[in-house]
Amino acid sequence: MNARMFGKSAETVQREKERLAALESLDLLNSPRDEGFDRIVRLIQQVFGVEIGLVSLIDAHRQWYQACAGLSGDEVPREDTFCRYVVHNEEPMVIQDATQDSRFVSHAAVTGPEHIRFYAGVPLKTRDGHTIGTVCAIDRRPRSFGRRDLSILQELAGAAMDRIELLQAASTDSLTEALTRRAFKREAEQLIAAALRHRHDLSCLVFDVDHFKAVNDSYGHAAGDEVLKMVAATCRANLRTSDLLGRLGGEEFAVVLSHIGADDAMRTAEKLRAAIAARFVDGDFGRISVTASFGGSALSMIGRDIETLLAQADAAMYRAKGDGRNRCVSWTSMQPADGMGVRRRVLKAGSIIFNDRRSTIDCTVKSIGADGAGIMVSNSLGIPPEFILAIKAERLETECKVISSDRQNLEVAFR
Ligand code: GH3
Ligand code: MG
Ligand code: MG
Repeated sequence: MNARMFGKSAETVQREKERLAALESLDLLNSPRDEGFDRIVRLIQQVFGVEIGLVSLIDAHRQWYQACAGLSGDEVPREDTFCRYVVHNEEPMVIQDATQDSRFVSHAAVTGPEHIRFYAGVPLKTRDGHTIGTVCAIDRRPRSFGRRDLSILQELAGAAMDRIELLQAASTDSLTEALTRRAFKREAEQLIAAALRHRHDLSCLVFDVDHFKAVNDSYGHAAGDEVLKMVAATCRANLRTSDLLGRLGGEEFAVVLSHIGADDAMRTAEKLRAAIAARFVDGDFGRISVTASFGGSALSMIGRDIETLLAQADAAMYRAKGDGRNRCVSWTSMQPADGMGVRRRVLKAGSIIFNDRRSTIDCTVKSIGADGAGIMVSNSLGIPPEFILAIKAERLETECKVISSDRQNLEVAFR
């Protein structure tokens, strides 16, 4: 059986792969709301007199609403969407009355309370011709949609793509003036490269405003925006200008602290947490105060790029949420307390360097973690309690201390 028997030719599979790569390189999914896209969906409502306007991105599994007017929620499984046909065929699709279309007549959005009847969707295409999502006009009663309408919707999809390109070039978020996710990662990678080269500390914090949905629900979206501005401004006031502050998503931010180790990073997190909790936002809507939950991670043997540091800090932040919110958790503190943190299994050639670099013994590195490694040698006799471990394939060299050893195996802690 080959892929074609399932209706998927090798070309289709390849095309989808490229499409997903194009989408991933834009790094747009879960990015903050943006007024430019909001305007487009409002225009869709007004121009066509429909209830629902949508600008969406579609990855392998889900449709994510970059902007949406008239529907609640912000994502749906891909297989439940009308839009997946537009992505698959890379062509517009108009359904005047879904109850008359065998593909959709028994769809939950048609039979259920959403009561969808009309759908017009056009591809959201990159310059390279990849359909990364859709722009749609949707209504709860049947309607017709002429060529002129379709051409207007396509113009709006073009405007949405222009907006995406503009956002790619922007380095700061227009609401909070924090770095965009893209710019933040780019600059973070540079700081990390410098830290690895010059062997200095670097840490990463991720934080997310607590119960922010309740702020929007109680005080309105504009008030929520004011809170986000306050949060970013409070951080800036408490950080050095050399620190990076980025907005990763709606109410989620990240910080990179150069020359700061894990413990000091958690002190900084605590300072930011307390500063945010102490501030108020006053307006027509009344007085609002919020808290945020923080996670921290630091450069280590296994955390040597921004994606890993963000993932570790994010896991710690998630723990902070679980522990009751308005608190800071470090990723290191989540590792087992027996002095052996999470280890990655490897089999890599290493060198044990000692005696003022005059002596070198070859070894095999079997496991590596943030704080130590497991090493195998042919004979551990003669290896001093402290030495330098070099792993060429990881471009790594660090001072170690032996915690335990037998004839052939050493457990070391990084210093
Ligand atoms: P938790 O404490 O678990 O983080 O709960 P939460 O309510 O903060 O989390 P949730 O992810 O459920 O809600 C986040 C809300 O933030 C939902 C979304 O509409 C809102 N949001 C995202 N971006 C913006 C924005 O730019 N402005 C405003 N006002 N709200 C936004
Ligand atoms: Mg939140
Ligand atoms: Mg969040």
